Amino acid sequence: MRLFRIKGGVHPAERKDATREKAVEDAPLAARLVLPLQQHIGAPAKPLVKPGDRVLKGQPIAAPAGPVSAAIHASTSGTVESVGPQPVPHPSGLPAPAIVLIPDGRDAWCEPMLSLGPYAAPEAIAERVAEAGIVGLGGATFPSAVKLNLRARHRLDTLVMNGAECEPFLTCDDRLMREHTSELIQGVALMARALGVSRAVIAIERNKPEATAAMTGAAAAYREIAIAPVPTRYPMGSEKHLVQALTGRETPAKALTADIGVVVHNIATAFAVYEAVILGRPLVSRILTVSGGAIARPTNLRVPLGTPIRHLIDVCGGLTETPQELLSGGPMMGQPLRSTEIPTVKGMNGVLALLPSDTRRGPAHACLRCGTCVAACPCGLLPFEIAAHVRNGDFAAALEAGLMDCIGCGSCAFACPSRIPLVQSFHHAKGHVAAEARRKQRADEAKRLAQAKAEREARLAAERKAEMARKKAAADKARAEAGAE
Ligand code: SF4
Ligand code: SF4
Repeated sequence: MRLFRIKGGVHPAERKDATREKAVEDAPLAARLVLPLQQHIGAPAKPLVKPGDRVLKGQPIAAPAGPVSAAIHASTSGTVESVGPQPVPHPSGLPAPAIVLIPDGRDAWCEPMLSLGPYAAPEAIAERVAEAGIVGLGGATFPSAVKLNLRARHRLDTLVMNGAECEPFLTCDDRLMREHTSELIQGVALMARALGVSRAVIAIERNKPEATAAMTGAAAAYREIAIAPVPTRYPMGSEKHLVQALTGRETPAKALTADIGVVVHNIATAFAVYEAVILGRPLVSRILTVSGGAIARPTNLRVPLGTPIRHLIDVCGGLTETPQELLSGGPMMGQPLRSTEIPTVKGMNGVLALLPSDTRRGPAHACLRCGTCVAACPCGLLPFEIAAHVRNGDFAAALEAGLMDCIGCGSCAFACPSRIPLVQSFHHAKGHVAAEARRKQRADEAKRLAQAKAEREARLAAERKAEMARKKAAADKARAEAGAE
């Protein structure tokens, strides 16, 4: 297949050897599971259970709250302990509502949903994916059913399955492609059917030859599915860049890939779709990589959702020393985990306990204006310039310079010889801009409500005045008539 060049990118050390050959193990059940109501982009789910309720594995315990939201299911059988704030993986570090489940150890499934079979109608596939609570498992966590319904609003021709797994350390998608090849191909065929496209391309970085060979063999029976080995270059897994590399089409700023006819899903999502549509099982677990220099026995685990990170580290033999960083996801785009009590959620593809030797972090120096960050940026931005605006607190200028076009890939920070934490400063600036937008929205809403209240009070006062005048006129008339008699 012909590939097209993409801008920028970097070659961080892969560091995948510790887990690449480790077959996926089932993590044993933890004593307590915490299932946040928001494990997806969109509105938090609404709880369907209360403390004391007994639930079975796969039973819905929270329903989607709106068109962009996702259901949550019990990841094992047991009793609901509480519904309320718990530590969750969120950059703010603040607790958020969650359902706490105490497993009964039986791991007993509820009645599965009916299998829809491989020839299900497109609408039925999307409906089942919604029912199963499936979200983008590569970390984006956008509800998958919404994306599978995009054919209603866009003219689509291609489904791209992202099996690039370009982040260092992570090997869970590699293992999934090697161990569940047939299920994945069936899942991809179902997703292509749901989207109404006749072409599905599974992109796999060239550093995964075994996965590429396995998937190529399994896809041979499907005319519409092609396997595309893509260069090992970070961030090849970025949605817009992958589409450009495979199709040559550039997604305009602020547009979706669907606007140019392409929908992208992570390869792990195809496995969840297979389980939901063919086996009738909702999303109750996921496969992730536990690795980093501080993990005694790095491996890939299939983990019930809600399992605390502490339990995963214990299953992997514990920590050999105190990590410099504990991350959810890869070292380039992962988010810091502030506590090992934080639970495993749908979008978590890795837990990394990194030592100083695993990272390039160190004291930052002054900008040399060398332009290395510009060459590394896959979005064609001038990272040093945006960073200078952020440093000066000039967020308007940072926005003007393309802050919101930054995909947060971290290539610039990785390449910077002065180790300037560029991407961290962009995250901070985006948080500031979002908080300002929310503050302005609240202020506008308060102003609108105050204005509506003042108008209502003026109207009521006018009505009262008119009523009093009417009563006075009636009384005057009655008195005049009585005087006349
Ligand atoms: S790579 Fe670093 S030192 Fe060079 S211009 Fe960019 S921010 Fe400055
Ligand atoms: S983090 Fe943003 S600015 Fe830096 S390389 Fe990636 S897209 Fe460009």
